[in-house]
Amino acid sequence: MINRRDFGKLVLGATALSFTACNSLASGLSTIPANKKRVVIVGGGFGGAATARYLRKFDSDVEIVLVEQNKEYYTCPFSNAVIAGMEKIDFIKHDLNTLAKKYNIKVVYAKVTKVDGANSNVILENGEKISYTRAVVSPGIDFKYEKGYTKENEKYAPHAVKAGEQTTILQKQLENMKDGGTFVMVAPADPFRCPPGPYERISLVAHYIKNNKPNSKIIVLDQKDKFSKQALFSNGWKELYGDLIDWRAAQFGGKVISVDPVKKVIVTEDEEIEADVLNYIPNQKASQLAFDSGLVANGKDWCDIHPKTFESKLVKNVHVIGDASNAAPMPKSAFSASTQGKVVALQIARILKQQEPLNPPKLANTCYSLLNPNYGISIAAVYNALDDKIQNVDGAGGVSPEQDPDGHIRILEAKYAYAWYESQTSDIFK
Ligand SMILES: Cc1cc2nc3c(=O)[nH]c(=O)nc-3n(C[C@H](O)[C@H](O)[C@H](O)COP(=O)(O)OP(=O)(O)OC[C@H]3O[C@@H](n4cnc5c(N)ncnc54)[C@H](O)[C@@H]3O)c2cc1C
Repeated sequence: MINRRDFGKLVLGATALSFTACNSLASGLSTIPANKKRVVIVGGGFGGAATARYLRKFDSDVEIVLVEQNKEYYTCPFSNAVIAGMEKIDFIKHDLNTLAKKYNIKVVYAKVTKVDGANSNVILENGEKISYTRAVVSPGIDFKYEKGYTKENEKYAPHAVKAGEQTTILQKQLENMKDGGTFVMVAPADPFRCPPGPYERISLVAHYIKNNKPNSKIIVLDQKDKFSKQALFSNGWKELYGDLIDWRAAQFGGKVISVDPVKKVIVTEDEEIEADVLNYIPNQKASQLAFDSGLVANGKDWCDIHPKTFESKLVKNVHVIGDASNAAPMPKSAFSASTQGKVVALQIARILKQQEPLNPPKLANTCYSLLNPNYGISIAAVYNALDDKIQNVDGAGGVSPEQDPDGHIRILEAKYAYAWYESQTSDIFK
């Protein structure tokens, strides 16, 4: 028989237990049950979420754990349309609920501090460990903070190449800019997330300015001398915006020496420029997590991988995909990340079933860019992942034609851009 005091202790004990359980993000995942295989995926963006979804398609038994630090994912694709006021921020918002509920994927919301390859554990910020048979890492990019640009002052000159809060800050700054103001973008050196991304943004900012603040001007200080789809962008800018966009190549005045994000002053090799809105896009490297996990070789910025499986060249059983990986000539794009995720899912499913990985897997990329809501351009390519390199498939892919006398193609491609977004995000998140 238990008395009142003991009953009280039991209740308190139960409360404490459930409190502990609630605080445990990875409860029961520190070991893998016998006869079970577990794949832990870090990052629930285009790369990680696609891996989870497709791994479930290829293997109904494997335990899949997806670890993501944020409950909501804002896509960079179409974030430029949000900045230019064409779409609201909710248009680019997605979550992992469908993956968790419909596809039997355990989603853990936590920051990962390290993938510990020596012990086959993913380590969370609270110290908990999740054991894996194989891990897939798709954590995206981080920045090279230099020349006066820091994590602390980035909100004054938002880069907006991680979508969400940064997108909203830049959108508001543009909205509040006076008519007659100067919008300055600093575009990064190669390689960086989404080669046409900065130039699509400049196009849509020009579209906004033309319609709302026609006395303003746009200066692009580029840290390189050429960029993706340059002829298509330049012709489109002339056609749609006349001389509104002043793009300066690195060798002709674009090179930035220093920046003061608070005062919005940029010093170039030739002059000092004061901006009303400063969109500073720093040079980039793989996410810090990749460095902390030993996935980046000394002196390098990106994770080297074996092309056929995207397994790290440095840490066995850990696959790195998406922007963090060095998958050149594939660009750092959402389409690349999701295709790599699908290929890695297939290869891991085969490896876990003791089958040979597919040889060679095919990869693909398409990037649409909008110059205004009814003017789209695109680039596409197909790749073979060979033993030692990823190689373009000759004759597959291409870019939009330079001439479009009737304007039909540009209108259609703008429609395709929206359709591409709908199909990509449905395929992965819905
Ligand atoms: C303005 C702009 C426009 C773009 N437009 C296009 C386009 O039209 N088409 C296209 O194909 N691509 C486009 N891109 C590129 C695309 O956004 C990226 O290439 C893509 O997001 C890369 O996917 P990823 O999975 O590698 O990284 P991400 O999408 O960045 O996902 C990484 C995820 O990992 C999580 N994460 C990171 N570190 C940790 C950690 N330590 N612990 C837990 N979670 C972590 C992050 O929270 C994030 O959710 C654009 C990019 C920009 C900036």
